Amino acid sequence: AKHSENPRGNLVQSAFHQTLGDEFTFQQDNNLKHKEINPYVDQWVGVCVYVYCAEYGGLGLDFSYSIAVSEELGNIRCGGIPMAIGVQTDMATPALARFGSEELKKEFLLPSITGDKVACLGVSEVGAGSDVAICGECFFTVTMRDNIIQDTIQYTRQRKIFKMSVLYHQSVHVRLAELETEIELLHSLLYRSTALYIKGNDVTKLASMAKLKAGHLSREVGDSCLQYWGGMGFSSDVLVSRFYRGARLLSIGGGADEVMLSIICKYMDTLPKAPDKN
Ligand SMILES: Cc1cc2nc3c(=O)[nH]c(=O)nc-3n(C[C@H](O)[C@H](O)[C@H](O)COP(=O)(O)OP(=O)(O)OC[C@H]3O[C@@H](n4cnc5c(N)ncnc54)[C@H](O)[C@@H]3O)c2cc1C
Repeated sequence: AKHSENPRGNLVQSAFHQTLGDEFTFQQDNNLKHKEINPYVDQWVGVCVYVYCAEYGGLGLDFSYSIAVSEELGNIRCGGIPMAIGVQTDMATPALARFGSEELKKEFLLPSITGDKVACLGVSEVGAGSDVAICGECFFTVTMRDNIIQDTIQYTRQRKIFKMSVLYHQSVHVRLAELETEIELLHSLLYRSTALYIKGNDVTKLASMAKLKAGHLSREVGDSCLQYWGGMGFSSDVLVSRFYRGARLLSIGGGADEVMLSIICKYMDTLPKAPDKN
């Protein structure tokens, strides 16, 4: 029911229906995430690829579809599954699709699209970590942040302390409103970057800002919301607890916050210049 009230969710559904017709399983009464993913998140391990040119078995859709699917994947109630899918579709294979030779694409990209091969990202080495810049982050956490807030509203509304819902304390509902506003701002930045990227613009600066903000906001949402769950927030059964732990990765992986700031500074031309050798 929540999905049908969500205009972004409807957008994803109609986009896929237009492209793929009735065979596609993102239907309101046969909803993929509720019927085929959520019940199995603890057991299910797998991958799927939906973007990329038809020559290699992809659908040839533009990057906005990747964003739409990432947002939809954020409705899965754990971080590991969408991250596993996102690493395959948006982190490990794009460089291969863009820069790989025909031979490499046939050997590795094609089976990655058909699901026969699982790609991984190998950027961690003894002497390299944050200095390996990766542009591209899974934005499923935007949806997930939204869901954490909705879960928290639901929980704090029914949780009564001193004969009053936790939610109705001004410091609680006002803070949730602030966080919701921040999420909407992040959405706007994401959609603007995507629209510019599809038109062929360099969006490195905007994407770095979005990644930086996503990391900061994940921490804020996780920390504030967990606080309002009280001791229940420590239980692994609740999404906020999983999110609090898992979302910390965003500020470290795929380019640490400090690296994003360096990129933004570079585009602002505020980085100190290298000393003149003469
Ligand atoms: C849950 C999880 C899953 C992961 N999965 C994968 C994976 O699938 N494949 C893979 O290859 N790697 C993976 N990684 C590793 C990840 O890519 C690295 O952790 C990340 O790139 C950061 O590198 P590092 O850990 O070596 O930190 P370092 O590079 O040692 O950086 C440590 C800290 O130093 C600071 N720092 C770094 N650069 C700067 C700077 N320029 N200015 C100021 N401060 C700076 C930052 O605070 C940073 O967090 C994963 C990590 C985690 C936690």
